[in-house]
Amino acid sequence: MLNRAEIAAVVCDLDGTVYLGDHVIPGVPAAIARVRAAGRRVLFLSNNPTKTPAEYVAKLTKLGIPATTDDVLTSALIMAEWLAAQPTAPRVYAIGEPALISTLQSHGVQLSDVPGQIDYVLASFDRTFAYPKLQIAFDAVRAGAKLIATNPDKYCPVPGGGEPDAAAIIAAIATCTDTTLQFTAGKPSPLAAQAVATRLGLPITSCLMVGDRLETDIGMAATGMPAALVLTGASTQAMADQWSGPAPSLITASVVTLVDYLLT
Ligand SMILES: [Mg+2]
Repeated sequence: MLNRAEIAAVVCDLDGTVYLGDHVIPGVPAAIARVRAAGRRVLFLSNNPTKTPAEYVAKLTKLGIPATTDDVLTSALIMAEWLAAQPTAPRVYAIGEPALISTLQSHGVQLSDVPGQIDYVLASFDRTFAYPKLQIAFDAVRAGAKLIATNPDKYCPVPGGGEPDAAAIIAAIATCTDTTLQFTAGKPSPLAAQAVATRLGLPITSCLMVGDRLETDIGMAATGMPAALVLTGASTQAMADQWSGPAPSLITASVVTLVDYLLT
């Protein structure tokens, strides 16, 4: 059960929760506005590393949800902050789209595509993934690099289907090198929970994670964050019934019905 009085902030997933592709899920902008008007903070936390926080701000604002970069966290940003904080200044081979590369660069992370010089191979959601990138990752891991990833999602829901996500890239590299993934920065990692707590200045127990995917969004419940599943994206009620991970505090049709419940 969800202790509604204890929730000071709503941490809201984006793809499949707020929108599908470029289409906002009906009623969500008004629901977000109600949460804010009730004096509770809304933070958007996306595992999707293919847009910068500034691009998410532009997209949300265009869809009728005014936001600033203070309101957005992504797996790419959490990973960039983690890499930038390492005292060893690691060199990174990043398999990702321009938003990930620019986020890493803006944090001063050293990038390399020379296998013997790479400390971390960073796998990500990359719609330009191709064999030459896999070859560099393969050579780097065999030369001692560790495999890490922005996010563990299998696919990203879009209208009418989905797009293969970072899990496919991780699996390609892990399979050909017999290596294992060290960690991911996005949901459901403790690193993501810590980033939320730091950003909001709140204990994670008073932040409610709301999302459409059991493995990532509801997986956050293992970190101590309460989590609510919405049925507008990746996971269905039938999948929730079979789910053996941490239990959601609530399963509800959408962000709209969640907010109705939260603010009652
Ligand atoms: Mg989602």
